[in-house]
Amino acid sequence: MTNSSAGLPAAGRLYVVATPIGNLGDLSVRARETLANCALIAAEDTRHTGILLKHFGITTPQLSLHDHNEGMRAIEIIARLREGKSVALVSDAGTPAISDPGFELVRAVAAAGIDIIAIPGPCAAIAALSIGALPTDRFCFEGFLPARGAARRQRLKSLEKESRTLVIYESPHRVRETLEDCLAAFGETRAATVVREATKLHETTYRGSLLELLHKSKSDADFARGEIVLLIGGAQMPASGDADSDATAALDKVLAALLTELPLKQAARLAAQITGARDNEAYKRALFLKQQSASH
Ligand code: SAM
Repeated sequence: MTNSSAGLPAAGRLYVVATPIGNLGDLSVRARETLANCALIAAEDTRHTGILLKHFGITTPQLSLHDHNEGMRAIEIIARLREGKSVALVSDAGTPAISDPGFELVRAVAAAGIDIIAIPGPCAAIAALSIGALPTDRFCFEGFLPARGAARRQRLKSLEKESRTLVIYESPHRVRETLEDCLAAFGETRAATVVREATKLHETTYRGSLLELLHKSKSDADFARGEIVLLIGGAQMPASGDADSDATAALDKVLAALLTELPLKQAARLAAQITGARDNEAYKRALFLKQQSASH
């Protein structure tokens, strides 16, 4: 490759390479070839990426690039690119620069006028959206919410009227607290999906209203294990995706009150009369609510 009539070496390219989010089978052929053929791999954690490289028999040297050295590394990497060497950027898992290091480097390389090529692949947010059963025509990526409770609640409050599906990365030990905050901000009937351990052995997807997911987070010990993406339907998006959810919420409210005083069958019959719900529907909801409260 030549760069100019001045005989300077052509600049290399920066390849932004997505790597698996759990299942090594998800490394694309193109990603593998790129990692093998570049002069250098800039990796968030060289030990972590070392395991991936070893698995695929790739011996390309690595350089660490993380949040604390990205500015300095960008200068070094641009120098290598100008020498004509190509560099691959990877993070620990998924797509670099998506809630991961890489943005500063990409911006600096773009400003230097050097080509940047995407080698797309796994991304937890997109994987979750693709199976979440919530609208995907428009969505809003929030990444990680603030860790501190007050700041998190404030951020969620500001999203109360957001009509696009929200995509949130969450750590397992905070997911219950976050669901509680979401419930306070968006109401208990808002539809939500939790995708945990996508592409891994224990991949599980939980779908329901925020209230149902909060109950699940308390009753299912696995709920808060592993890596999690939380999706929340936009405003006007009740759990079943149609007007039935409002009716279900009203039925649940009446049932919750009656179940504290009456046997299940009687509570269901009365609730059906009060709300206009079908008898068998009221009975099913009563059973569901009873089971939920028994599991706490
Ligand atoms: N750059 C990555 C991507 O493209 O998805 C995201 C990196 S971010 C530091 C890590 C977060 O992504 C985790 O805390 C979790 O919220 C989500 N995540 C990563 N892998 C996941 C998986 N296998 N299943 C569910 N969520 C995952």
